[in-house]
Amino acid sequence: MAYKVPDLRYAYDALEPNIDEQTMRLHHDRHHQAYVDKANAALAGTEWEDVRPREILTRLDELPAQLRATVRDNAGGQYNHCMLWRSMSPHGGGEPDRELGEAIAATFGSFEGFKDELKEAGVGRFGSGWAWLVHDGSRLAVISTPNQDNPISEGRTPLLGLDVWEHAYYLRYENRRPEYIDAWFNTIDWEVVGERYAEAPALAGSARSLDP
Ligand code: MN
Repeated sequence: MAYKVPDLRYAYDALEPNIDEQTMRLHHDRHHQAYVDKANAALAGTEWEDVRPREILTRLDELPAQLRATVRDNAGGQYNHCMLWRSMSPHGGGEPDRELGEAIAATFGSFEGFKDELKEAGVGRFGSGWAWLVHDGSRLAVISTPNQDNPISEGRTPLLGLDVWEHAYYLRYENRRPEYIDAWFNTIDWEVVGERYAEAPALAGSARSLDP
């Protein structure tokens, strides 16, 4: 089944003033759609066209060589952006509680320690890419990846992805990536991230995953 860009679960302007309406329209309707169109064009008619993005991204080395780079970028773009829209909410922000809150405090010292680390990873990513909170099988970690690479390709489970491509922030924040990251924290839906954490050890094979 061909990939689709999922509808947002909130209005384009619902994340104002943190993320502006025009950025959401361009990012969701144009940039994400372009990844989906390119992934579908690459996968159509191949044995991979019905395979879910997160499975493809764990099996990139099995893809035909002439497809591999295009699928890596564009199936990655699909997975990453589906995750992103689900990770944000007009009622977002604050801090995670329960198991995820405890794990973040245990791993990073405090929520602020985690925030500093994710922000540093996002600011420090040269060019385009993402910063991530991941579960690596035994513990939480913060990493960053270039382009549309997803941590799942390296055996890590992504729980939260911060898009630091300029298309995610440039209209409102221009070159002020740190300011964008601070504002984006006000949109994080920690309920969704907590659900991903709860199923993290089994995510690779989980049919009930939130993400594609
Ligand atoms: Mn993006």
